[in-house]
Amino acid sequence: MIILLLGAPGAGKGSISNILKEKYHFFHISTGEIFRKVINASTDIAKKLKSIMLSGGLIDDDTTNEIVKNELMELSNKNLNIVLDGYPRNINQANFLSKIVKVDYVFDILVDEQEIMKRITGRRTCPVCKSIYNIYYHKPQKEGVCDYDGSLLVQRNDDKEDVVVERFKTYLALNTPLVEYYKQQKIYYPIVNENLDKAIGEIKKIIG
Ligand code: ADP
Repeated sequence: MIILLLGAPGAGKGSISNILKEKYHFFHISTGEIFRKVINASTDIAKKLKSIMLSGGLIDDDTTNEIVKNELMELSNKNLNIVLDGYPRNINQANFLSKIVKVDYVFDILVDEQEIMKRITGRRTCPVCKSIYNIYYHKPQKEGVCDYDGSLLVQRNDDKEDVVVERFKTYLALNTPLVEYYKQQKIYYPIVNENLDKAIGEIKKIIG
């Protein structure tokens, strides 16, 4: 089964993916996470990608599609359950995806816009196990330290307020056509994510 998570930056796609991965054994493919690893290298490509990400824009479709294709081909042949988080981001990517796999469900993770800034600027992530915390809503037991493996939590570079504003603009410009595209295919499900457990419960009910 292949499911997609759409939604604004900070809507909770990463947290939902982590639960699907830990509790329900989904494989998680996050293009954002893949790119964050790539930009740590000291190559010219890494520098270029980093500057795009820190401007709140999107990496070009050819690069993104190629990365997703490589990840997916390996997994989908094994008939696994996969959650794609942060991909596709536009119709071009959605068309590309439809040529390589069949998507079963598309969940649009919705949150109140006013909430988003607090969620994102308060977000802290464990660089090792990828657990996500929030300094306002979901603090670790010890400040700044991961509950599971003791690593020091980090803030994503693109979670600073000015970058978030740009990421949000990019999202607004591209999301509506994508929603229409999947509504037409009758695989689109909006999920309000005010409460993570409730959101997961709804997703579980739909996928059975
Ligand atoms: P968010 O959804 O919270 O903005 P992500 O972790 O999904 O964050 O993505 C971080 C950044 O990585 C994006 O702002 C963009 O620059 C890049 N990126 C992620 N996914 C894609 C994609 N499918 N196409 C192009 N760029 C992407």
